[in-house]
Amino acid sequence: MKTIKDLDIDGKRVFIRCDFNVPKDEFGNITDDRRIRAALQTIRYCVDRGCKIILGSHFERPEPGVYDEQYSLVTVYRRLDILLKIKNILLFDDSKTGGVITHRAKELASSLGAGDVLLLENLRFDAGETNNNTAFAKEIAGLVDIYINDAFGACHRKHASIYAMAENFDPEHKAAGFLLAKEINFFSRVLGKPTRPFVAVVGGSKVSGKLQALTKLLDKVDKVIIGGGMAFTFLKAMGYEIGNSLVENDLLDDASKIMKKAHENGIKFYLPVDLVVAPEFSENTAVKYLPAQEIPVGWMGLDVGPASTRLFREVLNDAQTIIWNGPMGVYEMDKFAKGSIKMSHYIAETHATTIVGGGDTADVAARAGDVDEMTFVSTGGGASLKLIEGETLPGIEALEKR
Ligand code: AMP
Repeated sequence: MKTIKDLDIDGKRVFIRCDFNVPKDEFGNITDDRRIRAALQTIRYCVDRGCKIILGSHFERPEPGVYDEQYSLVTVYRRLDILLKIKNILLFDDSKTGGVITHRAKELASSLGAGDVLLLENLRFDAGETNNNTAFAKEIAGLVDIYINDAFGACHRKHASIYAMAENFDPEHKAAGFLLAKEINFFSRVLGKPTRPFVAVVGGSKVSGKLQALTKLLDKVDKVIIGGGMAFTFLKAMGYEIGNSLVENDLLDDASKIMKKAHENGIKFYLPVDLVVAPEFSENTAVKYLPAQEIPVGWMGLDVGPASTRLFREVLNDAQTIIWNGPMGVYEMDKFAKGSIKMSHYIAETHATTIVGGGDTADVAARAGDVDEMTFVSTGGGASLKLIEGETLPGIEALEKR
């Protein structure tokens, strides 16, 4: 893939599509700025080459085309200002009156000097972003000479700044940033030629969001470990009582098919053998540790139990490559976090190449203090699942288009 290093960008006007969609707490504070820090390499590369830099990103899901203060990039702007430590970094503030490429934004864009950085407001404040509008894309493209996509976490979306905008540039004027290139290289190397045994650890709430990826993984991995809410659809498909646990009854057949395919392919398929169960979805409830076959009617499984984590540790022991996507339980509540935290420790302790994908999963690894021990923590959950499914990401397709 062509990267920013392959282009002549010296002194040019460069747009970098970043993914600044960072998590915030209830007070609006950024709780994890990894995505911002991950974008710095490409930005600094441009600063050092005297470029005039315009950054664009979405943030969460405002109503398309409507300014809403809680989705403003102003906190991202302040964090960037601290991290970049350069003199001129600007965020225009007239998005309130509507639109993103406003008169003021254009004015600021044309006043940029070498090494200056302008951050545009949340691109989704213009309805053209989410519906891949060509006119909106042209408007942003008109501000610059070079288009760089460094937003791996948004590459699976056919949005204006990801797709239509790239179509305005020929191959000499568009490329991937360092972060995007790193993400794609990692996944293609691991999925293309994994060192075996290759283990997939899959959790999270639902089977539906990961059904395709799971099916694809069965052609690649040697072992699968299932945890989290999605385990109950499999346990129910095997005929167990699952009480009030999360389940997708319309996917019981698919769950059975996956287990059958795993068996036929000689893949070891592991489900939790015990669970932390509770009568209600709450932090302050009574809990019991019970074998997976003994969930009382009316109770629900909210974490994998200690026997399961021990079993999973054994399964991981000889792994050489591990992909982990999805927590093992409701890790947001301390009472149900142990399964996920232990899983993170065990994955980090192996000598395998370890890839963590998905915002929640990265959050678990961070809470467990294991991020530095993982080989790679991806900045994109949905995008990494699409790669595993074998799909071409719209963002990559647009970069490669002539
Ligand atoms: P996903 O976005 O599909 O990766 O799911 C992540 C979410 O799954 C987290 O918010 C967890 O709280 C949730 N989750 C994990 N295990 C369970 C469970 N046993 N029951 C309900 N939700 C769960």
